[in-house]
Amino acid sequence: MDGGVVLTDVRVFDGGTLGEPVDVAVADGRIAASADGARTVDGRGAVLLPGLIDAHVHVGTVRELQAYGRWGVTSVLDMGAPDWAATSRLRGRDGLADLRSAGTVACAPRGAAVARMGYPASGVVRGPSDARRFVADRIADGVDHIKIVLEERLPFRPRPLDEATTSAVVTAAHEAGVLVCVHATSTRSFRIATRAGADVLTHAPLAAPLEEADAGRIADRGLAVAPTLVMMKKLVERFPAPVTPRRISYAHPADTVRTLRRAGVTVLAGTDANSDPAAPNTVEHGAALHDELQLLVEAGLTPAEALTAATSAPARVFGLSDRGRIRQGYRADLLLVDGDPTVDIAATRNIRGVWIAGQEVR
Ligand SMILES: [Zn+2]
Repeated sequence: MDGGVVLTDVRVFDGGTLGEPVDVAVADGRIAASADGARTVDGRGAVLLPGLIDAHVHVGTVRELQAYGRWGVTSVLDMGAPDWAATSRLRGRDGLADLRSAGTVACAPRGAAVARMGYPASGVVRGPSDARRFVADRIADGVDHIKIVLEERLPFRPRPLDEATTSAVVTAAHEAGVLVCVHATSTRSFRIATRAGADVLTHAPLAAPLEEADAGRIADRGLAVAPTLVMMKKLVERFPAPVTPRRISYAHPADTVRTLRRAGVTVLAGTDANSDPAAPNTVEHGAALHDELQLLVEAGLTPAEALTAATSAPARVFGLSDRGRIRQGYRADLLLVDGDPTVDIAATRNIRGVWIAGQEVR
């Protein structure tokens, strides 16, 4: 086993607040009380963060996972993998960001996932009575969570999944003990997913900010939201003004984050990073999470709240009980940065070192 490492005189962000300088020991891939024969790393002037967690990615290659490691992102939550065979093989690899995946997403007949993005036909859910079959297929695949894509009702587009079908998928997933994430980009789909009792809503309404009352219901039900501001901003910018329907604006997702925060909703940092040419926009793996943190702060989160959204909050929501904080016995997923990101969020980019389960990867 490795000889371990001790980071000395380092200020620790424990998933909520920043402490006074301490020594942090790593042994056998975990945070430890001490580490015999350990190498010492001088942490003076630096802040030690739990490895970052991106709550919305699409990953299919080792190279992509390596990019996360270099950027201090040590766990990634995949929200849909068209090539399940390729993505599932990337889980649990030494020295790579720890990957959890939804595999094949649930979508409506002729939905974009199967029509354009290469997902297998078993993702199509034909109605409430098909929900159990969809969930059973995913459990047989060995997925970590379930993803439902709620598209919008638009002219000349296939009809999206209806509320009864969405609810039936959520119910079947919960009976099987798996968490459900829902793609939603309108107030209408946010409401459907909230009433259905999903666990995580991802993206944000593009044509209007979420209303207080909706945010209140999301808070009451204990749902988390990963707004993916990086992707929302790109989507809006991709359509120049004369083409963009007038109501579509990045101001709405940013406003929605403020409203969610006021209502006490758990916000998660997620990027929708992907390198899929069939996706609406590609987003850079790893680096984009630092952009997302910046956008969350610009939208009204404090820097510490943004860091929580990328550490302890996603760990709690996704049941990753061995990470997201720097505590004895936890996985040694660590990001050492210069400066104080609880004051200036941009400091997360000043990377001095990254460890994944105790293995130094940068
Ligand atoms: Zn996505």
